[in-house]
Amino acid sequence: MGDPFIPSTYTVGSRELEKEVIAFFSRLFRADEDNWWGYVTNGGSEGNLYGLYLARELYPKAIVYYSEATHYSVQKNLHLLNMPNIAIRAQATGEIDYEDLEKTISINRQMPVIILANIGTTMTEARDDVGKMKRIFKNLAIQHHYIHVDGALSGSYAAFIEPRPSFDFADGADSIAISGHKFFGSPIPCGMVIAKKSHRDRIASSIDYIGSLDTTISGSRNGHTPLFLWYTITKLGIEGLKLRAQRCLDLAAYAEAVLKQIEPGVWRNPSTITVNIPKPAAAVVKKWQLASGKGWAHIICMPGMQKEQIDAFVDDLEQSKSQLPAMAG
Ligand SMILES: *Cc1c(COP(=O)(O)O)cnc(C)c1O
Repeated sequence: MGDPFIPSTYTVGSRELEKEVIAFFSRLFRADEDNWWGYVTNGGSEGNLYGLYLARELYPKAIVYYSEATHYSVQKNLHLLNMPNIAIRAQATGEIDYEDLEKTISINRQMPVIILANIGTTMTEARDDVGKMKRIFKNLAIQHHYIHVDGALSGSYAAFIEPRPSFDFADGADSIAISGHKFFGSPIPCGMVIAKKSHRDRIASSIDYIGSLDTTISGSRNGHTPLFLWYTITKLGIEGLKLRAQRCLDLAAYAEAVLKQIEPGVWRNPSTITVNIPKPAAAVVKKWQLASGKGWAHIICMPGMQKEQIDAFVDDLEQSKSQLPAMAG
């Protein structure tokens, strides 16, 4: 229950391990040694809600900017929090259009700026560049700004790839949310949010006044999910997690190469595990339960996926394509 870093009279729980999980990610995401805080959430969406909530409490008059490729939960969260917001164009890859971002911020430059950056969009796994966002603040002399990073899937392994994407606290993030049931494979939905402790302290004291340090969004929380995260990071360690990421990346490179042979439009953002394919025939989409939209579908080469599954998919896709002329006739 409640803030894992505040001792509670109720001592049956997993908060000691939860703190170790948060400490692990504070190092992985290069937070300042004494300036981090976080907790294990019910999922990536709650982490995004928390980051935006912190940002709003710090800058109540701010406008929120995010690319049009942002996960649907963010719109809902902004609605819940009643925060003014502006969608920014995305490039064809799914990465935010920095020119449109700079131009739009400059029109409203008297207002504080909150950006929701995607470290891996849902459809194409495009990564926005936090360093480029910081440069825009500098160019426009924006004094009050906050960057929340939605790293649900891709943020979970971004620290293991070279060159390292610009996404973490050292790059300029103020808070980061990830999912625990994606890359880390928790069998129960969960996630993690981590923020600068100095930000969290500002809202903690404002809640203090109602007599509690109730800093988490939900009161009672799942005590098992921190154990799953703790087990995975302890068992695998940095090296094991790196290897897990590399296997996924290798499989994605393989999938991209074999799929391209039958579908030349197939593509992938650099160092990602998401392979984008022109939307296949309905039967293939249904059988493989592909997420699709705007004429595209994708395969995400998650940990545990095998080459054989890619090959079976390629067979189905090939077959559906050779059947097309017959069906049209
Ligand atoms: C999955 C995902 C979310 C939502 O995460 P949940 O853990 O399902 O709440 C948010 N943003 C992105 C980019 C995602 O991929």
